[in-house]
Amino acid sequence: MDFIGRMERLGEAMRRERLDALLVSHMANVRYLCGFTGSAGALAVAAGKKGLQASFFTDGRYTQQAKEQVRGAAVSIVPGAALTEAAGWLAKRRVRRVGIEGLQMPVAVRDAVVPRLGRTTKAVATRELVERLRMVKEPGEVAQIRAAVRLASSVFDEVLQSIKPGVPESRVAAELEYLCRRLGAEGMSFDTLVSSGTRSALPHGVASASPIPAKGFVILDFGVILGGYCSDMTRTVHVGAMDAKSEKLYRAVQEAQQAGLDAVRPGVKTSEVDRAARKVLEKAGFGRYFTHSTGHGVGLEIHEPPGLRKAARGAAKAKTPELRLEPGMVVTIEPGAYIPGMGGVRIEDMVVVTPEGHEVLTPTRKDLILL
Ligand code: ZN
Ligand code: ZN
Repeated sequence: MDFIGRMERLGEAMRRERLDALLVSHMANVRYLCGFTGSAGALAVAAGKKGLQASFFTDGRYTQQAKEQVRGAAVSIVPGAALTEAAGWLAKRRVRRVGIEGLQMPVAVRDAVVPRLGRTTKAVATRELVERLRMVKEPGEVAQIRAAVRLASSVFDEVLQSIKPGVPESRVAAELEYLCRRLGAEGMSFDTLVSSGTRSALPHGVASASPIPAKGFVILDFGVILGGYCSDMTRTVHVGAMDAKSEKLYRAVQEAQQAGLDAVRPGVKTSEVDRAARKVLEKAGFGRYFTHSTGHGVGLEIHEPPGLRKAARGAAKAKTPELRLEPGMVVTIEPGAYIPGMGGVRIEDMVVVTPEGHEVLTPTRKDLILL
């Protein structure tokens, strides 16, 4: 992993925001910048004459791990809160404008940390400063993501065997997670979603105790963590005899998902990808049942920028200029449609933007599977 390059790009981003220091408290960002994979610690970064200086703070539980993993930063093992110590380190450097991670830092923590920066220092809440650096993946990161995607998709066919009328959704989820862990997954990247029958109309139906019905859709949405990187995929299958409306719904979502994939290439606005998928569902008469965005970035976290959603309007538009896809970005394409009382369909692949267009990472078939 290119920690030197990451720090250079961080320095540029800090200059753009006129920051001469940054307190990194979000652990995925800490990991990205210095390699530490533990769950507690803080990274202080200060701009100096010779480029960025970084210092990592953690507690005694991580003495050995920090020494082994941290790259490009001094390591301090401290008895107190890592973040307050990191703020104290910055105060000694007489920095003026310090970025704090506004979306990640609880108010109580901010109130404890900011006074430690000193009276002349201004704390500035940043928004996705490091996350935006993380959007474009290095080849090594794409390789990790690819391995996570392959692992998760390799259990799909076997999991289908456990989907039978009467079997609780939670047991299907348990089978799926067991198979993933056996194959070496470090964990699931989020709570496995298994929703069947009318429950499949819940876009975020976590596996429940409900039994799989004799007839209806079953949505499986799951992913693993491997080498710290997440995967995410959704497939919808159908149990029992299928009626014409259900079939129409499946075909429309499948077509929308393909249209979304086809729209992925460098230079395209994120909202244009959403538009491409949404248009198909609108045409098929299911537009109002597509109640979420078309996709999201995936990497060290399961949901990260860029989001593929409708273009913002008015004031919100001016505040957040829309992103365009770049080679190396990894996103999901996951349109769905959910009809209350009937059921829902979602199909989700992961895709990497390439200089020529895109490459779909998820190898699992998408034709209609009737069980
Ligand atoms: Zn998903
Ligand atoms: Zn997703």
